[in-house]
Amino acid sequence: MVKIGVLGLQGAVSEHVQAIESCGEEAIVIKKKEQLDEVDGLILPGGESTTMRRLLDQYDFMDKLRDFGKQEKPMFGTCAGLILLAKNIKGYDQPHIGLMDVTVERNSFGRQKESFEADLAISGVTDHFNAVFIRAPHILEAGEDVEVLAKCDGRIVAARDRHILGCSFHPELTDDHRFTQYFINMVKSTIKENSK
Ligand code: GLN
Repeated sequence: MVKIGVLGLQGAVSEHVQAIESCGEEAIVIKKKEQLDEVDGLILPGGESTTMRRLLDQYDFMDKLRDFGKQEKPMFGTCAGLILLAKNIKGYDQPHIGLMDVTVERNSFGRQKESFEADLAISGVTDHFNAVFIRAPHILEAGEDVEVLAKCDGRIVAARDRHILGCSFHPELTDDHRFTQYFINMVKSTIKENSK
């Protein structure tokens, strides 16, 4: 069993815990930076990125989170979590954690589409994934090494930059845990690589 942390400062934390457990793995809610040493991979949930950033600073998480990513431990940002991981945020001078080579735009599906569901093809996962979007960002630009995994209305909504995975939607809000499983598989291959 692998141990997957879910950053537990704000947002859709318990839903991710349930998704990880449904995949048969152990989930640990991360409330203190020291707990990051206990986990093999980390999910940054959806919620509100500016609130989460404030809490990350308050609890002194930023350096430790950047180290986690630099050690090539897998990280998965969903919705606000994707915004936290992006190297560039449209309209902002500075990124937050800034580890994933993408430019994101916040709340980019427009007011009339505050929340919606879409049937997505996700490369390497399935041709049909019912994705729930809530005031979602999208990826405007992806760097050379970034693999685009899914698009919605021509916009990039899921991508992978080596050991970092990000998506605009909330894969934890339905009973379909195949995208969570994709991340768990990334964590398992990293462990395998490192034990060689
Ligand atoms: N709109 C939020 C933000 O910009 C993200 C929404 C979400 O995570 N569901 O942080």
